[in-house]
Amino acid sequence: MKTRAAVLTEVNKPLQIMELEQEGPKAGEVRVKVKAAGVCMSDYHIMIGDWPLPLPMVLGHEAAGIIDEVGPGVTSVKKGDHVIFSFRSNCGHCAYCSKGRTVLCIGFNDTPRWGMHDGTSRVKLNGEPVNVMARIGTFTEYSVCPADQVVKVREDLPWTHAAIIGCSVATGVGAVIRHAKIEAGSTVLVVGCGGVGLNVVQGARLAGAKTIIACDLLDNKLQMATNFGATHIVNGKRQDVIKTVKEITGGLGVDYAFDAIGTEPTVLQIVDSLAPAGHAVIVGIPAFSTRAPITPHLMVYGEQTLSGTYYGSVRPAVDFGTLADLSMDGKLNLDDLISRTYKFEEINEGFQIMARGQVARGVILFD
Ligand SMILES: [Zn+2]
Ligand SMILES: [Zn+2]
Repeated sequence: MKTRAAVLTEVNKPLQIMELEQEGPKAGEVRVKVKAAGVCMSDYHIMIGDWPLPLPMVLGHEAAGIIDEVGPGVTSVKKGDHVIFSFRSNCGHCAYCSKGRTVLCIGFNDTPRWGMHDGTSRVKLNGEPVNVMARIGTFTEYSVCPADQVVKVREDLPWTHAAIIGCSVATGVGAVIRHAKIEAGSTVLVVGCGGVGLNVVQGARLAGAKTIIACDLLDNKLQMATNFGATHIVNGKRQDVIKTVKEITGGLGVDYAFDAIGTEPTVLQIVDSLAPAGHAVIVGIPAFSTRAPITPHLMVYGEQTLSGTYYGSVRPAVDFGTLADLSMDGKLNLDDLISRTYKFEEINEGFQIMARGQVARGVILFD
């Protein structure tokens, strides 16, 4: 069959919506009718060449839809199930999956992360295979992907909410409650208040943080952060971030600091804002060329920790459902994260608006 998909053919060029030839799901695969897909910074990193990956590629990795067809041997989902895509494979039996660290799964490392587990692609353009981001490539009407990368969810969850649980919500909230596991009463700094950073803010609120300091360069983002639970805001363009954080925390610094951006200055900000025994967490995925000169002796004297979290260290098979329940119970605010929805044809406008920092999250709705 055919599917229309947004394809990146060259870096620094707009995505092109093309009709691709699509094969049905093979053993262990499913075809999903995509209902909603979020516009995320990770797609943009590929579009502007921060993460050099082989093109052409169907982008998109934060999405939800309905199972349209299952390949031979698939028993985890059936036609008609509502699912959220996971952008990481989950073999279920490697050392990391066995320990519950599914984001670090090494079970499918023999094949690249932009095709199926057998190393081939299910979509073609003029007879040539097209790569798909994270094995799912969800900027498309129908995605054929490994069954281990879809998680069944409750059917009353709105499609927009289901889509963003698959990346920004899982990454931001997961960074706080699954990775850092902050204690109630903690002091927290969040640098960067985009789709992921706002979810770090509300994850910290959910976990009972006493002080949540949100930092961004844009006042509209800081205003959003207060709506999600920030108790203090710092404009990094006008204020000295570290000095202000120290003032707010009585000179000590914060117990936890999260960098939702992933650049040299922001990594240094989270480390330098820590209190003794503090934990700094890199959440946003940096450009592959990024380096940051930390000051090791201060980390020794202060017994501080610097760590990275990928995908919020979530276990999609269990955590997507939990996040859906927290959203439906009103404990996580996903309504106000969805600033805008777009038609598929407006996808490039969606990326321009995101790059200008005008939205918390934009989501593409498919018919
Ligand atoms: Zn994403
Ligand atoms: Zn595994």
